[in-house]
Amino acid sequence: MAPCEIVYVASENLAKSSSLLPSNRNRSAFVHALVTSLGLFRRSAHSHPLPSHQLTVLRPNPASPLELASYHDRSYIDALLAKPPGPDAASCKEFGLEDDCAPFPGLREYVLGIGGASLTAARELAEGRCDIAICWDGGRHHAHKSKASGFCYINDCVLALLVLRRAPPPSLSSSISNQARKKSRIMYLDLDVHYGDGVAAAFRGAGARGQVLTLSVHYAARGFFPPSEHSALPDPSSDLFDPFTLSLPLHAGASCATFMRVWQAVDRILTAFAPDYLVLQCGVDGLAGDPIGAWNWSLGGEGGLAWFVQRILDSSAKVLLLGGGGYSPTNTARAWALLTSIACGAPLALDTPIPTHAAFPMYAPSFTLDVPAGNLRDENSDDYLMEIATVFERVAEVLRTQLA
Ligand SMILES: [Zn+2]
Repeated sequence: MAPCEIVYVASENLAKSSSLLPSNRNRSAFVHALVTSLGLFRRSAHSHPLPSHQLTVLRPNPASPLELASYHDRSYIDALLAKPPGPDAASCKEFGLEDDCAPFPGLREYVLGIGGASLTAARELAEGRCDIAICWDGGRHHAHKSKASGFCYINDCVLALLVLRRAPPPSLSSSISNQARKKSRIMYLDLDVHYGDGVAAAFRGAGARGQVLTLSVHYAARGFFPPSEHSALPDPSSDLFDPFTLSLPLHAGASCATFMRVWQAVDRILTAFAPDYLVLQCGVDGLAGDPIGAWNWSLGGEGGLAWFVQRILDSSAKVLLLGGGGYSPTNTARAWALLTSIACGAPLALDTPIPTHAAFPMYAPSFTLDVPAGNLRDENSDDYLMEIATVFERVAEVLRTQLA
């Protein structure tokens, strides 16, 4: 078996600029400090316990404005990079640089840093230097072509997808049908509690070529961000139905039992589309204990986030793991550290003690890696989950027909 190569994108400069984001102040530093203190880099370097997995830490370069322009409008990029931070008031309004996306000191460094980090990770995959790439500082799925939204200024998910769209199908693909393809197929799966509107908007209508498929699993309720006419369950009988831009809305309190059923729907799409590359946005604001408070998903157990991500990694696609939402810095660090260990083929136990490091006191009272479920009632009824199953079975049929 060929070694599984894993690239982990991180640097002190990236953690520093990423930690400036007002909605996630210092979160990046929490994540990388926990991954380091758990010895995940060292364990991989010493090939323990699975010698087939090798993790390399890669320091990204900041993106250039030209690289950001592969998706974003130049006038918007100029506004983001203005010195001092923030253009004039009229431009701020035009580009959404207000309220939860107000300019902040370090915005220029932040935007270039995040863009460069996800581009670096995507290129490692696209150029065949790794099988799994990890960029926990990325995953800013709400940003639009020329507008900031929902704490997201630059859509690094779209930048990464555009890199992968240009990449040839991996030559070592085990799938015969993949080897016959001239162009790669890329699936974007979004597990953040919020609808991945920015990524869906970037590719909606462009999926007819069958190259990029986006699927967002999210909480949907009146008044919940982001407002969108596209965040409902798809209707395959509608003239407007696009099988390459998919949405799977869930009700409040979604728990592991619900996510086991969600996996069945996701797996249908994964099997029908058979992507060469899969970009997984691992926003963890749906975990129990997150201040958003919409879902009751746990990190461990059958149907848990770790269980779900393991299934994605078991697919034959090359995977880019991105971060996203997550408003408890310690729970976010717990989740992404555990997912890193899973990517390394050496999953840590949920009761792993948090090692002594500078942020240790913040992990009270459990001081373990676990993020257990809470008491929120799961409002996703059996009838609703059956409806999801039926709809996604039909979507998979349409996909198979269109891709044949
Ligand atoms: Zn979110």
